Amino acid sequence: MTAVQAKPDTFDSLDPATGEVVGSHPIHTAADVEAAVERARAAADWWAGLGFAGRAERLQRWKGVVTRRSAQLAELVHAETGKPHGDAMLEIVLGIDHTAWAAKNARRVLGRKRRSSGLLMANQAATVEFQPLGVVGVIGPWNYPVFTPMGSIAYALAAGNAVVFKPSEYTPGVGKWLADTFAEVVPEHPVLQVVTGYGETGAALCRAGVAKIAFTGSPATGKKIMATCAETLTPVLIEAGGKDALLVDADADLAAAADAAVWGGMSNAGQTCTGVERVYVHERVYDEFVAKVVDIAGKVRAGGDAEADIGPITMPKQLDIIRRHIADALARGGRALVGGADAVGDRYVQPTVLVDVPEDSAAVREETFGPTLTIARVRDMDEAVEKANATEYGLGATVFARTRGMELAARLRSGMTAVNSVISFAGIPSLPFGGIGESGFGRIHGPEGLKEFARPKAIARQRFRSPMNLTTFTRTAKTDANLAKLITLLHGKRR
Ligand code: NAD
Repeated sequence: MTAVQAKPDTFDSLDPATGEVVGSHPIHTAADVEAAVERARAAADWWAGLGFAGRAERLQRWKGVVTRRSAQLAELVHAETGKPHGDAMLEIVLGIDHTAWAAKNARRVLGRKRRSSGLLMANQAATVEFQPLGVVGVIGPWNYPVFTPMGSIAYALAAGNAVVFKPSEYTPGVGKWLADTFAEVVPEHPVLQVVTGYGETGAALCRAGVAKIAFTGSPATGKKIMATCAETLTPVLIEAGGKDALLVDADADLAAAADAAVWGGMSNAGQTCTGVERVYVHERVYDEFVAKVVDIAGKVRAGGDAEADIGPITMPKQLDIIRRHIADALARGGRALVGGADAVGDRYVQPTVLVDVPEDSAAVREETFGPTLTIARVRDMDEAVEKANATEYGLGATVFARTRGMELAARLRSGMTAVNSVISFAGIPSLPFGGIGESGFGRIHGPEGLKEFARPKAIARQRFRSPMNLTTFTRTAKTDANLAKLITLLHGKRR
């Protein structure tokens, strides 16, 4: 029992390559969502009561089911998003790996631990443990309909919460598939439920009294969600868009950097939150790098056949944004070395490489979310860092450099940076994932991701009576004098 029953309003998910109906799903009303959250409350108590070991065992079994049926899930991801099967499988593999990590590490990260009790309270045993929040609402996007929500769902479940998940209206079938397979290994209670529909269903989830909303999507929607959550003081985690830069230093492996730029910018037809959108290249290697990018990007093809490298643009209205960014870049002196104005069709966008694009143009400033790259020449890496950081976004970044990789990575204003590879941080479950500024706040993945879905509980247990009891009205003047001496001894030295 997973998908919530609601009649009669339904909506269809469509194959973006053909326009055919993939599946029909209920539009869940505010009442439906409230009912789901109510059911989840009881489920959350039961799930939390299983403890780390019980939950880990169930999550590992779920992971096994998803793995064994991954071809079926990949087919559904392909149908609802249009992405090639290989790309669908890649995000599923990463989602499985994150689930395994969260299940395996939850006790270590969240379980009870001793802390130092300090000198003043030396008679106390101090412990902290991270308890589940209760019911977590997850609102997801369509571009990685498995990997992205799993970064919240798997970690929230491992931390002991029940989850009500509202998938994107473009990928409801994938969301339902995840909840249905979870219910096979956890049939007792609706620990993971799915509610489907449009933005209103998501807004209803924000108002339904959940303990936290984990949102992934655009910054504009993130702001609406914060406003809605403010009504009930519901905490939020926001994973929003990006305008990620890739930096190429003069000593970089140019073949590897060009390959990474094209894959990072164009895989999934550029519809990747941490996709490369801007490239800044040291002037000494600019021409050689650009030639390599042109060569590789020129061979990448968008299409609906099995040999195509990238699929359609999933959301038809995104085509207008991509068209506007390319047109603006060209109108303002930019040149297309691959693709260009004609690259945008009515479902597909062919790879487009733009150079000489002014830094204040839309193609450099706004999230394009298409298979496009802007490449700019820089004097040195200081200029590259400055330009890369001149954005309100701050999600991911990439540096290609032989000697200065770590130094440049640390100076980039982004939540994650890859050095000499691209987007690799997303596949390392132990690393936190999240952004700065318009890219959002809070972290999924890793220990930080587990802690997002838990609240710290501090316990001070008295082990023996202190000769210097501070927390009593029977405290004497002698105790106060001793305390003054002790604190002077500890902290009163002149430096
Ligand atoms: P979107 O913001 O349009 O929608 C995301 C989800 O929010 C959908 O489920 C939608 O139904 C729901 N929603 C819409 N209006 C709502 C409202 N008023 N209240 C509550 N919920 C509402 O985003 P999208 O087009 O699905 O996804 C693309 C965006 O997501 C891009 O900007 C991309 O960069 C970003 N993204 C970020 C990450 C990340 O981890 N930082 C990952 C993937 C995608």
